[in-house]
Amino acid sequence: MNFNKLVMTLTHEQERYQGIVDLCGHTLSDFLQAYLSQSEQLPSCLKLFTNQHRVAGILIQKLPAEIDDDDDWHRIELLTQTITAQEMLNLSVAEIITRLYHQEDVRIYEQKPVTFKCSCSRDRIDNVLETMGRDSMLDLLEEKGVVNVDCEFCNLSYQYKQAEIDKLFINHIADEPGSIQ
Ligand SMILES: [Zn+2]
Repeated sequence: MNFNKLVMTLTHEQERYQGIVDLCGHTLSDFLQAYLSQSEQLPSCLKLFTNQHRVAGILIQKLPAEIDDDDDWHRIELLTQTITAQEMLNLSVAEIITRLYHQEDVRIYEQKPVTFKCSCSRDRIDNVLETMGRDSMLDLLEEKGVVNVDCEFCNLSYQYKQAEIDKLFINHIADEPGSIQ
């Protein structure tokens, strides 16, 4: 049997998110790193280590920034690659971070439990579509029958049919002073 796809299913409360990517690399770290880079579209670097008792890992991701500096990212990526299993499995998080990135300006924040949050909402998508203008929305609608907006972060899909588009721009026109409904 030939396994060549990685299927990731994340379950959060009632919602399930699934991503399928080609396997590239040789280890689970490689597969997951490729998944993160392709699916989240954020350059990522992941290293996993195991002994008989535990698994330890480090994940770094390049967040979108106003000033995009690839040199900074490559330097951090190279430093991350130097971590050894011995260090990863035995040192505290603070020790690992200060040891790996000691030449950088390191700030360690208070630990917080991991929770899933996405800032997308119907209102925000409405605002984006409004700025595109009624005519281009109607063109899209004519071409596709429905306008779909997918959030790349949480996989939610927002659908706009004729009625939703009309409502969007009726509200918009009503907001303008002196307009006639
Ligand atoms: Zn979202």
